[in-house]
Amino acid sequence: MREHPADYKDYQFDCSGVYEEGEYRIKCYHSTAHGHQDFTQAFANSCNGAFANLGLQLNSGKFNETAKSLLFNSALPLAGVPYKQSAFNMNTGADTWEILQTSIGQGTTQITPLHNTMITAAIANGGTLMKPYFLNSVVSAGGEEIRKFIPSAYGSLMTAKEAEELTELMKAVVTEGTGSAVRTDAYTAAAKTGSAEFETGKEPTPGLPGLLRWNPLSWRLRLLWRKGEAAAGRLRP
Ligand SMILES: [Zn+2]
Repeated sequence: MREHPADYKDYQFDCSGVYEEGEYRIKCYHSTAHGHQDFTQAFANSCNGAFANLGLQLNSGKFNETAKSLLFNSALPLAGVPYKQSAFNMNTGADTWEILQTSIGQGTTQITPLHNTMITAAIANGGTLMKPYFLNSVVSAGGEEIRKFIPSAYGSLMTAKEAEELTELMKAVVTEGTGSAVRTDAYTAAAKTGSAEFETGKEPTPGLPGLLRWNPLSWRLRLLWRKGEAAAGRLRP
């Protein structure tokens, strides 16, 4: 989206369930063959083969810059609580296996649930990241408000256009892809599923690290991830 803003939606891919590049293999979840995928379908279905194939066509240095702009390898605008920085190591000169792994979010790439939630909130907020805070106000025993905490903006993680287009992609995750567990007529939801590797060498556990629920007043953000759940379809908001 950022490197090919004019034509990224023209991307097409045929998924057999296992993507092969030389001696390397990248499997889709349970080796499911997704068949012919356009860009939106590949995103909605979390098609690993398509993401691996896309990654090989991107500039690894620019990919690294995009990750940096989203606060990987960086301090978060967060005071008073300990946290780990998210890691993104791929850069110019990366070998094929690192590109394939990084493009599907595995390898040495790591993101904390908090950071994931912040990026998702920025998408819901037109690209602007608000500084997270934990207390709304401090009230005395007598009911008097002693201190009130006011929301403040950190800055822009992406353009408003990128945020809008990501929201549309995340809506497709719910309406036609891996986020079907939160599909409902009661409200509009937008989400992106992801997988967490809890044990090295075992198949990653799926979850919904970013879920936006829209009502006429605002987006609400939920983070759904239960260790040990075997299927994304079992998760509920
Ligand atoms: Zn696939």
